[in-house]
Amino acid sequence: MTERIVVGAALLEGGRLLAARRSAPEELAGRWELPGGKVEPGETPEEALVRELREELGVEAEVLGRVPGVWPLKPPYVLHVWTARLLPGAADPKPLQDHDALRWLTAAELWDVDWLDQDVPAVREVAVLLGAG
Ligand code: C5P
Repeated sequence: MTERIVVGAALLEGGRLLAARRSAPEELAGRWELPGGKVEPGETPEEALVRELREELGVEAEVLGRVPGVWPLKPPYVLHVWTARLLPGAADPKPLQDHDALRWLTAAELWDVDWLDQDVPAVREVAVLLGAG
């Protein structure tokens, strides 16, 4: 089966990482994730990430770079993570879709939220970038 990519954003601002709490589906509700979603046919992962951040959080962002690693989700999906930042003048992120809370976490707070199991290894990599690894 061809792998389908889900992109997650490590949205960084002033040394903090944005975490988003899922509101659905029921089995994931209340757990925290890196916001993102499926790459649609014809889209690059970077384009998908910018689109998902616009749809889910109402922000304009730019992709910075890939966080090394590929993490399995429910087949055929795999998670790729990219760092990103808000464009100058972008609105504050709001939970518009799929989420009911957002938190900007400092390096010291990274493990204060209950991350989705599949996001944990990715967050560990981001922790290294934040100097908290
Ligand atoms: O947000 P969307 O429903 O498009 O995400 C596709 C799938 O990827 C979902 O099953 C979601 O749980 C998963 N996902 C994930 N970790 C993320 C983002 C999405 O496991 N950071």
